[in-house]
Amino acid sequence: MHIKRFLGSYTQNKPGPLLICLAGIHGNEWAGVQALDLLLKMLEVEPITNPSFSFHGKILCLLGNLPALRSRMRFIDHDLNRLWDPSRLNGQFTIPEGLKETLQLKMLKGIIDKEIRQNGHRQIILLDLHTTTAAGGIFTLPTNQPESLRIAETMHAPVIKGVIEGLDGTCIRYYSEKYNDAVTGLVFEGGQHDDPLSVNRCIAAVINCMGTIGCVDLAHIENRHNQLLVEYSRGLPKVARLLYRHSILPGDQFQMKNGYKNFQPISQGEELAEDKLGLVHAQFDGMILMPLYQDQGEDGYFIVEPIQN
Ligand SMILES: [Zn+2]
Repeated sequence: MHIKRFLGSYTQNKPGPLLICLAGIHGNEWAGVQALDLLLKMLEVEPITNPSFSFHGKILCLLGNLPALRSRMRFIDHDLNRLWDPSRLNGQFTIPEGLKETLQLKMLKGIIDKEIRQNGHRQIILLDLHTTTAAGGIFTLPTNQPESLRIAETMHAPVIKGVIEGLDGTCIRYYSEKYNDAVTGLVFEGGQHDDPLSVNRCIAAVINCMGTIGCVDLAHIENRHNQLLVEYSRGLPKVARLLYRHSILPGDQFQMKNGYKNFQPISQGEELAEDKLGLVHAQFDGMILMPLYQDQGEDGYFIVEPIQN
């Protein structure tokens, strides 16, 4: 498919919220991109096959890091989802001009800012779609906004609290903090990067979100993808919170031990990884999330604790 910033939009020009869906802010995460592409096509034909289909508000689908998507790499020079630092963005723009991601950030931010300015009268939701290198998990990462939590809780996937607040420079954190409750931010992780079902799960997540915020009446549309989320989440905690994030730097030679998957229970002291200083032991009892099995990335793994099963 052709890689372009504006993947498309859909509206029936009825009053309602603005849902901005973002995919490919990491260039090796194609499932969200394919999901949005398919979803836009589904929305176009839905009124033909389902005359009672009514859409309130507007959905806008954007892509993040275009050069990285073309190269199928997480990023080219710098992680685009770690550059949204308020001190940089609100004051002086000090991101080095040489980075490929600097231009990507400016272009993406220009479009989102304009949409927010033009749609200030509506409820605005920014939904960011991702996938993980490890298997075994889908989950949502809400902000601490009540509306973000409300939307996350309807997605039939574990809700992980505290990760967004624990990460500097993400797009979702930037917009939810800058606009407070006027812009609701939420991340959905759809599964492993190359699992074909990750595409379906991302579609289901966006449809659920459209239902929760009132773009569509879920009773009037068939959502067979939903069952995928329910099945995949079986046995996983409903709500969990972040206990620990293992950040890594280039040159740390971080190497995750093989075989960890999302939500795998771990014990304090367990050998999780190796780096240039030696073995890395689990800091807490809990469940592992997003163990890193790719070269690029600043987070080795996260440890979460279930708070509701
Ligand atoms: Zn990602």
